[in-house]
Amino acid sequence: MIHSLPNLPYELNALEPIISRQTLEFHYGKHHQTYVNNLNQLIIGTRFEDVDLLTIIKEADGGIFNNGAQVWNHTFYFEAFSPSPQKVPTGKLLQLIEAKYQTFEQFKDTFSQKAVTLFGSGWAWLVLTPNGELDIVQTSNAANPLRDGLKPLLTCDVWEHAYYLDYQNRRAEYVQRFWDIVDWKMVESRL
Ligand code: MN
Repeated sequence: MIHSLPNLPYELNALEPIISRQTLEFHYGKHHQTYVNNLNQLIIGTRFEDVDLLTIIKEADGGIFNNGAQVWNHTFYFEAFSPSPQKVPTGKLLQLIEAKYQTFEQFKDTFSQKAVTLFGSGWAWLVLTPNGELDIVQTSNAANPLRDGLKPLLTCDVWEHAYYLDYQNRRAEYVQRFWDIVDWKMVESRL
């Protein structure tokens, strides 16, 4: 199976000024593409050569896991954005958020804190647990909550390459602006 870089559902400049064209040229065009290329090279001659990406994430280790998970994580991250997003959750997802975090604002504060305080490179995730509740988890490097039986609904990439061109060291500002482009219609569709 040849893995490929998915098309973005918007133009490279569509998320400006929150995420610049230059950041997407590197983050999507170089970093994401490189994970795809590395994965396609690494799986040759292994038992992962003909399996789908989810199987790789659940079963692989080392470089195949790292590159496969990074392909999946970045696609999941980029596809949650829209230049004209639905700015708030509705329906069942809103009910779940209010059941766990009281208000959408308190949910965003909790998620933002998890994203800002993650040490080093990694991801902050909103997930659905096996018992049907929401949770917010941090993962380091390429790690993905699917590996722990959790269902990802939204992620924020806090590797420096995600924000350094636009925000330099100011991760908290990047995370704050992140909320302005998250499309809750997409997040709801993942529930
Ligand atoms: Mn990234």
